[in-house]
Amino acid sequence: RDHHAAYIDWAEYERNQMLLAANAYGRAGGQKSGRGGRALLAGMLTCGRCGRGLAVAYAGAPPGRPTYCCDRPNLMLGLPRCLSFGGSRVDAAIASEILRVVEPMAIEAALEAERMHREGEAERRRVAELDLQQSEYDASLAERRYAACDPENRLIAAQLEKHWEAALRRVEACRARLAATDTPDPTAPMPDFEG
Ligand SMILES: [Zn+2]
Repeated sequence: RDHHAAYIDWAEYERNQMLLAANAYGRAGGQKSGRGGRALLAGMLTCGRCGRGLAVAYAGAPPGRPTYCCDRPNLMLGLPRCLSFGGSRVDAAIASEILRVVEPMAIEAALEAERMHREGEAERRRVAELDLQQSEYDASLAERRYAACDPENRLIAAQLEKHWEAALRRVEACRARLAATDTPDPTAPMPDFEG
């Protein structure tokens, strides 16, 4: 066992890797931007010599260069530090490896989201079409009731006319809603996330 090796806590690593990858995925080329000075592997590395978790120190102007180190417990005990190494190259290597592994999954997930979005649009359109059919049926029924009523009975005739007019307004509303629904274009290509 190499005293100067550090070991990754793989359970912790797996819990975090999708999050890390999602983070890295949003940043083209894995540029370290917008994360402050956070080291990629903070909390995930274990000292190969003493088994303690490695701490992260940041050197230089903020956000600072991360350094993984295991020295505090040993300094307290008056022992020499176990190890300390710059984090930038390790982070970069791990980040690119995560991207290599996760990028195909992220692309597949994005395509699946697009498929579900399109199915949702088609379903909304189908519901709007059914609503329009129902409202047209209701309006024709209201019209027939109005036409069939005894015009001498003015109170009833006025009510039936109001019902008919309300039914016609619902038809217009349903037409407008259907028109506002995107017409699905089955020939539209799926977005190219791999380009
Ligand atoms: Zn140590």
